[in-house]
Amino acid sequence: MGYIALGSGMNGKLVIGNWKMNGTLASNAPLLAALAAGWRSSPQTELVVCPPAAYLGQARLALQASAVSWGAQDVSDQAAGAFTGELGAAMLRDMGCRYVLVGHSERRTRLGETDQMVAAKARAALSGGLRAVVCMGETEKQRAAGQALTVLRHQLQVVLAALPRTAIDHFVIAYEPLWAIGTGAHASADIAQQVHSALRAALVEALGAAGTGVRILYGGSVKASNAAEYAAQRDVDGVLVGGASLQAAEFLEIGAAFLPIR
Ligand code: PEP
Repeated sequence: MGYIALGSGMNGKLVIGNWKMNGTLASNAPLLAALAAGWRSSPQTELVVCPPAAYLGQARLALQASAVSWGAQDVSDQAAGAFTGELGAAMLRDMGCRYVLVGHSERRTRLGETDQMVAAKARAALSGGLRAVVCMGETEKQRAAGQALTVLRHQLQVVLAALPRTAIDHFVIAYEPLWAIGTGAHASADIAQQVHSALRAALVEALGAAGTGVRILYGGSVKASNAAEYAAQRDVDGVLVGGASLQAAEFLEIGAAFLPIR
């Protein structure tokens, strides 16, 4: 199994927009054009959009000469073959994707994706040369019962057990508490830092020094008005943004909060 070397191994900040199932050819065009025009290349911070798969070709054309990267919202756990409706990692690479979201809570909840299915998809993504952004998070009930960290450590362990260590610097975690996604009730920066710090400790325990290089993003009602609070946290390496990534100016402002000099 081969792993494609995509970069220097230096992992900077990461700001990813998840468009979910939104957009049309007509509405995407000005959004993509504004992002392409508004984002300057930065070695420290990467801006990424994940449009619906139907629009990856459009994103590629609009962004290929820009500093903005693009990715997909899901990937098959299979490489190729009789898997109707699925998209393999090699196909996504063919479309120029650098990233893929894996195990978003909307897929876990609506489509029954289990930790094991998510782990298999993450493995397929890394094997195909993509950076896998594995989403994990606790429910409101689990947090209220004091189980948040136990749930998260378990979700992380299942994925780590499936991942090839040689591709670990292409593994990204997105901590997305379910109670904060699309609700406007974002986790405080303190909560995000506490959770990220616990995930970092679990990563280092499992991977040694390589665990320090795995990026941990926060996701859940991030907006331009709260992005700087997250950017100031030691263990928050970026954000995964849903609704606010559909507005170019808002998303660019969130990206700017993660640039080193503002
Ligand atoms: C998401 O969909 O990953 C997300 C974080 O959504 P929102 O920013 O809208 O809460």
